[in-house]
Amino acid sequence: VKESGKNDFLFYSEEWDDRSRERLALEHDLKIALQKEQLVLHYQPQYHLQTGEIVGVEALVRWEHPERGLVPPGQFIGLAEENGLIVQIGEWVLREACRQNKAWQDAGLRKVPVSVNLSIRQFMQQHLHEKVADILRATSLDAKYLDLEITETMTIDVAHASRCLLELTKLGVTISIDDFGTGYSSFHYLKNLPIGRLKIDRSFVRDIQQDPSDAAIVAAIIAMAHNLNLQVIAEGVETEEQKRFLQAHDCDEMQGFLWGPPMRGEAVQALLAKAG
Ligand code: C2E
Ligand code: CA
Ligand code: CA
Ligand code: CA
Repeated sequence: VKESGKNDFLFYSEEWDDRSRERLALEHDLKIALQKEQLVLHYQPQYHLQTGEIVGVEALVRWEHPERGLVPPGQFIGLAEENGLIVQIGEWVLREACRQNKAWQDAGLRKVPVSVNLSIRQFMQQHLHEKVADILRATSLDAKYLDLEITETMTIDVAHASRCLLELTKLGVTISIDDFGTGYSSFHYLKNLPIGRLKIDRSFVRDIQQDPSDAAIVAAIIAMAHNLNLQVIAEGVETEEQKRFLQAHDCDEMQGFLWGPPMRGEAVQALLAKAG
């Protein structure tokens, strides 16, 4: 129990100080991480809901910090967004995901697209499509095996989004809307932008069994996606019941801990080898 206002102030300001010091340290380390190649990609499999076949993988970045161990993206992507490092990180992720996918294909494994998360900063870049084209050329990956995930918020500037997405899809890559249902509330962009797939946000899938509103929302998203000729994938599927609900409502694909968490490249390679 704190005694006086003075002590309270001291307590909070010290805490604040600690936090900003921690931030600075992390920021400093993150710059080094890029040079020292401490970032790694894990991949989460995406499955066809009816056949159970692996149909894609999502690349998710991790930071192998020499002292802190494996740092999840939630602990450094926000910081990287703020200081702009996300552009370099995102470019590294794109290149590494394409390189890895091409290597798997060259090894004779099942060919599936790799999904890469784009940050708003990358998306606002004038020449993003040229960067993506360069990376595809350099890694010799066929563009149809690259899927780019953007969020609804990135479509708010409709003029920019349509120009950018048109340039990207001209290359042959596909576009998915990540965390669908949590962002921008107008669906106007859905019929005008060259989008291939909606990813139903995990928050709706989580309570499908307990919450009738969430069940209704998920069912409606699937129906709407199909009416617009879009593919639809559910994120964060953890239970058999959730899977059965999604199957019953004709969802196309699923991704989640039930059938596979994000894993190291070697583990995904084994899955792709088995799938042939
Ligand atoms: P996201 O794109 O929505 O990625 C899905 C997140 O949900 C991943 O967390 C994944 O591990 C987690 N997840 C997957 N299946 C389940 C499940 O069944 N249950 C639960 N509870 N969680 C599940 P992760 O890897 O920690 O990534 C968090 C977020 O960090 C991502 O969310 C994405 O927004 C961001 N992120 C990750 N990699 C990158 C990247 O290369 N670039 C950018 N810009 N953002 C990234
Ligand atoms: Ca994603
Ligand atoms: Ca998501
Ligand atoms: Ca998310």
